[in-house]
Amino acid sequence: MNVIDSDQIFEGSCACGQIRYRAIGPLAEMIHCHCSDCRKRHGAAFASHVGVLREHFALVQGQDMLQLYRSESGTRRWFCRHCGSKIVSEPDGWRDTYFAAGTLDTPLAAPSEMHIFVQSKVSWYEIRDGHPQHSTYPSEWDEPRPGFHPQRTP
Ligand SMILES: [Zn+2]
Ligand SMILES: [Zn+2]
Repeated sequence: MNVIDSDQIFEGSCACGQIRYRAIGPLAEMIHCHCSDCRKRHGAAFASHVGVLREHFALVQGQDMLQLYRSESGTRRWFCRHCGSKIVSEPDGWRDTYFAAGTLDTPLAAPSEMHIFVQSKVSWYEIRDGHPQHSTYPSEWDEPRPGFHPQRTP
């Protein structure tokens, strides 16, 4: 897994500012996910997440504002109950926590990126950034990481 900005501290928050978190690098690559689950939860063409070791991610404010939604696949998705911002996805069995890249307040310098579940991509958006695209999970991941995504396609 590619790592960036080792030891750097990254801070993020929800839209209303009541939830604040801190992540300590190294961060894993940025994953743009086009699966129907991510699209619907984020209301966007795709959702962008960055991975960090679970023990390197901590809430610094707003614990009581954090609402859990556990998807059918078992993934725990946390969002702000006041403003609705998606904050974190925690798939069972993965060692990383994935936080929503759009909630970061610390600038992120040119991380490596990839698109996954491109088979579920919306028809009205064309990927033109040149980053690797994977139909579902990248083949180099030695096993599917069950829980992050539902098995269904759109
Ligand atoms: Zn909020
Ligand atoms: Zn997804």
